[in-house]
Amino acid sequence: DAYLGAIEAANETFNAYVAVTHDKARAMAKASDERLAGGQAGALEGIPLGIKDLFATEGVHTQAASHILDGFKPRYESTVTANLWADGAVMLGKLNMDEFAMGSSNETSYYGPVKNPWRAKGSNTDLVPGGSSGGSAAAVAAWLCAGATATDTGGSIRQPAAFTGTVGIKPTYGRCSRWGTVAFASSLDQAGPIARDVRDAAILLQSMASVDKKDATSVDLPVPDYTAALGQSVKGMKIGIPREYRVEGMPEEIETLWQQGIAWLKDAGAEIVDITLPHTKYALPAYYIVAPAEASSNLARYDGVRYGLRVPGKDITDMYEQTRAAGFGREVKRRIMIGTYVLSAGYYDAYYVQAQKVRTLIKRDFETVFADGVDAILTPATPSSAFGIADQEMAADPVKMYLNDIFTVTVNMAGLPGIAVPAGLDHKGLPLGLQLIGKPFEEETLFRTAHVIE
Ligand code: GLN
Repeated sequence: DAYLGAIEAANETFNAYVAVTHDKARAMAKASDERLAGGQAGALEGIPLGIKDLFATEGVHTQAASHILDGFKPRYESTVTANLWADGAVMLGKLNMDEFAMGSSNETSYYGPVKNPWRAKGSNTDLVPGGSSGGSAAAVAAWLCAGATATDTGGSIRQPAAFTGTVGIKPTYGRCSRWGTVAFASSLDQAGPIARDVRDAAILLQSMASVDKKDATSVDLPVPDYTAALGQSVKGMKIGIPREYRVEGMPEEIETLWQQGIAWLKDAGAEIVDITLPHTKYALPAYYIVAPAEASSNLARYDGVRYGLRVPGKDITDMYEQTRAAGFGREVKRRIMIGTYVLSAGYYDAYYVQAQKVRTLIKRDFETVFADGVDAILTPATPSSAFGIADQEMAADPVKMYLNDIFTVTVNMAGLPGIAVPAGLDHKGLPLGLQLIGKPFEEETLFRTAHVIE
């Protein structure tokens, strides 16, 4: 009731929820009470969570914040959310996001932008919460849920976490099942939590992660006890500092924050080593070939026949065209055009195949560093703090918006785990985050190290 009341009072301001599931929340909470009374509480018994609109929730609004999925209520539950409910969590509702998770500011949503609960000191300007999991990050930061699910294809968990002073982890590709999560770029998408602190993130990921026979890319490895890693020393751990992440035009205070993070880890007994990830500069351009290519293929299914919106036409082809023209927003159309272009017969080798080769080189950069004994890599999470809603520069040049992902996309390209942890405030009083990147399936190392920073 407290959370539903908070949503009632504040959601109009933040626009974080696109659907509030009052009745379901109360019924689930009641069932939790009964289990608690019966002494059989699950790990998340009664914990109220917000769910990104990308996760299929049975009988509940699931539109990936797109007009094209109008009225879609799946008859099945995503594996990630099913895992949470099995542990006793309670669903408060569905959270706003960039349309089909494409964006870095939550401004491409059909439901309009989400407002960041943070503002610069002495300013009335509304800021973006980051994206695409902007609703998840804003809801957690504004206490409109105890934690939230999110997804990350190129930074969509970590960048909004950094912009809102919350913790977000993108686990290793394969750690969580993708079944029932609306696909953006299938070889990059991973679910993960956004939470108020590292411990909450560890508890949530513990529940979300699982091998799943419905997703052949989910991995059959035991999920370790993540909270057991918290409080363990980082003494003797080798932390790599990649020189390529010192990008041109990065504000001085991001560099200062990074140095602060290095100092904290050094004080805690970690060994700091300079490393090189030479193909970093190709990660963003390669991502913006691979991700749209996969997206254009995944989005082919929205044809006005199977799901949601249908705009009638003269004949079936016209119906497809009218539906897709009306149903997809500008950014989604841009991705479909880029994706179909790079996959087309004449350009496939020059763009798509080339980007896949670059992807392998990026992955090898990390493998080399880890083989040299590095346990985790420390970088800034984003090249800036939260920017204003309807930022003129970003609106005029989509590439400026894409640059938000400069520190986060490499992790998705290599399939590695990455966590964003709040590390300080900038001169405007806005949160800044640091990112830790780990070896495949070593999320516990990230929790342990992030816990020292938070
Ligand atoms: N901002 C990136 C994009 O627009 C990443 C999005 C994501 O991780 N879902 O593609």
